[in-house]
Amino acid sequence: MNDMRDRRLRFALIGGGPGSFIGPVHRIAAELDREIELVAGAFSSDAERSRAAGLSYRIDPARAYSDIATLLAAEAQRPDGVDFVTIATPNHHHLPAARAALEAGVAVLSDKPATATLAQARTLAAVISQTGTPYALTYTYSGYPLMREARARVAAGAIGSIRKVVVEYPQGWLAADTDSKQAAWRMDPDKAGPGGCIADIGVHAFHLAEFVTGLKVVRLLADLGSVVPSRTLDDDCQLLLRFENGARGVLLASQVMLGERNGLRLRIHGDRGGLDWRQETPNTLLIHHADGRTEIVQAGDASLGPDARATTRTPGGHPEGYLEAFANIYRDFARRLRGENAPLLPGIADGLRGMALIDTAVTASREEAGWVDFIV
Ligand code: NAD
Repeated sequence: MNDMRDRRLRFALIGGGPGSFIGPVHRIAAELDREIELVAGAFSSDAERSRAAGLSYRIDPARAYSDIATLLAAEAQRPDGVDFVTIATPNHHHLPAARAALEAGVAVLSDKPATATLAQARTLAAVISQTGTPYALTYTYSGYPLMREARARVAAGAIGSIRKVVVEYPQGWLAADTDSKQAAWRMDPDKAGPGGCIADIGVHAFHLAEFVTGLKVVRLLADLGSVVPSRTLDDDCQLLLRFENGARGVLLASQVMLGERNGLRLRIHGDRGGLDWRQETPNTLLIHHADGRTEIVQAGDASLGPDARATTRTPGGHPEGYLEAFANIYRDFARRLRGENAPLLPGIADGLRGMALIDTAVTASREEAGWVDFIV
């Protein structure tokens, strides 16, 4: 009997210390549906800062630990110990944290990219398969109801056979040197891994394109650059993609496009129509029909399919956004832990594809290799 079925799940946050970006988002998303509660954490590598974060999250101060090993040992002794950990630390810490939890039999929800390097992701995949402990990844954008609607419509043939995919993810916050701590580790190869922008946001764009099309990328041509001279890692990326059905694609990911904030946009065109979605206006999906009509699909519409309806919380016209999309990943993960189906939840296979994207694109671009096979 799965004892998680009828109670709220308990989780610990690894990372998410004072001043961090994504940790507090995880806390809100996890708790949105009252199915999950933050009860513990190793919020920082500094014990004092971890304690301070524990106070700000209003958890029992005794459960704000100095590191994940101490957390796992102490939580294992409690009758109300954590059911899973969320990993929201810089990339180089994903593998050690995930491995420690998985080997202790504690499930893991990790932020992307899966690890810092492809070799680490392969090690992680082996640990997941050896331990059999649940693991999933927060490819957040696949949690939007209209991305799930788009996926279902594409699969049902709404735009016909796919010919062209354009996914772009422009940001501008790294257009110059900055002393933000988020920038510091993202541009440090020892902490981020071999990819900069491609690892930070390129993997999101790549996952979303494959998620909605249902098609795998099989070849690519990559041109990555560091526009800001002090950097060794890329901050500006363009890739040409070839999908398994022969469709051509373009992936743009850049963090030096001044004026852009979080402009993720996905366009897919088939032989019967096309679709267009923008993350900054996520409650509208455009469907273009071959006869020239453009249909405006709105979040919350009664006409939406079951995947979108199941992930919408407010009535039509009452906008939802990033936090709710993130919460949908948590809801899927809770289902998985309770032994229910969660077929759209990203897992280690998606993590390996993301890490292979970083590795292949960085190498192919550096070597000016032209078109290369994309093999995971
Ligand atoms: P951040 O620098 O703002 O925060 C990282 C936190 O981890 C800090 O509180 C730091 O003290 C803590 N930390 C570092 N080493 C630690 C250790 N050994 N043990 C415990 N805590 C430790 O970084 P961020 O922007 O929040 O990014 C964190 C992760 O989340 C990255 O992997 C990033 O790629 C990912 N991310 C994902 C999304 C998304 O949309 N899914 C968005 C932003 C960031």
